[in-house]
Amino acid sequence: MATILNVHDVAQLKRAIERADRIVITAHHNPDGDALGSALGLWHTLARMGKPAQVLLPNGFPDFLAWLPGTTSVVRYTHGPDRARQMLNEADVLFCLDFNTFSRAEMMADGLAASPAYKVLVDHHPHPDACFDLSFSFPLVSSTCELVYELLSALYGSSCVGREAALCLYTGIMTDTGSFCYACNSPRTFHVAGELVATGIRVDRVQSMVYNNFSAMRMRMIGHSLLNKMVVLPHKTAYIALTMEEQERFAHRVGDTEGLVNLPLSIKGVAFAALFVQRPDFVKVSLRSRGDFPVNEFAAQHYNGGGHPNAAGGKSFSPLPATLASFEQQVAQLSDPRLLGFRNTYVGMDAEL
Ligand code: 5GP
Ligand code: MN
Repeated sequence: MATILNVHDVAQLKRAIERADRIVITAHHNPDGDALGSALGLWHTLARMGKPAQVLLPNGFPDFLAWLPGTTSVVRYTHGPDRARQMLNEADVLFCLDFNTFSRAEMMADGLAASPAYKVLVDHHPHPDACFDLSFSFPLVSSTCELVYELLSALYGSSCVGREAALCLYTGIMTDTGSFCYACNSPRTFHVAGELVATGIRVDRVQSMVYNNFSAMRMRMIGHSLLNKMVVLPHKTAYIALTMEEQERFAHRVGDTEGLVNLPLSIKGVAFAALFVQRPDFVKVSLRSRGDFPVNEFAAQHYNGGGHPNAAGGKSFSPLPATLASFEQQVAQLSDPRLLGFRNTYVGMDAEL
């Protein structure tokens, strides 16, 4: 299959990599499977091609991703800001993966902006900033991991991706598509996944490591959320909010609320779901939709956030009760036909297959 990448951009990147002595790979704050998987998949493959790099992340990753090969070599900004800044200052090439605006690196944003490195964006979020020297930005592609595979294949041929890199890249495609359920209507996604599986990875084990690796308390927190906390509103909307007290009660660990926001979308007729997680300084907001309602616009409008049309997030700096009251008001005032219209795909009996 022909590549979607611009051959001149690929050639330019190849030259930049060849000339580089120091390559740093980074991804967004609170990295998910796609962010960490793409960073490590690229890292393994560059090393295999004789171009050692370093992965530098703003902060830590959840336990359910710690098994990915290479995580012990990841440098965290939060563990040593001085060392991280030095790495950024000395880098010749800086890969920015799975985010497209420096602010998504939170405490490391200034360090990225100040780095003199040649900055290469590889990402699938809409509306990239213009602060990169070379951009591989494809919002219609399932995941950054799929893009990294395409890029590596274009650079060095598809056989350059070994089994360890394949484990990382497959994990990111799997998590960003909800195990090949959404954002993967392109045959290309399955082609890339097939190539990765052909390296000998065990799909059932990857699935189990990511999704069957939680504490019993996390399952109880999900039960509590669905039974006692889920609010179903008219306007095809449902939401869940968790206080800090509840997170403590269920011994919350990083990553425990991952996936929770998707659950209300299983209700017939619900097309818009929100999760509010109280943190010490703000409320973390996660938004999901099925069908045509673009939650990234809602996140940008109300929570200074962004993301994809069906998966987005942001922050509220109002107290949790005020945040929820505003949300209910905003939803009551929604007149967006993409949410409320009868032709909203997938929802209810009018589904178009
Ligand atoms: P999650 O709800 O899983 O944290 O994030 C879902 C998607 O929304 C992610 O792919 C990410 O791109 C986007 N997102 C989450 N939080 C923020 C945010 O604070 N700002 C922006 N711009 N995007 C966010
Ligand atoms: Mn992603």
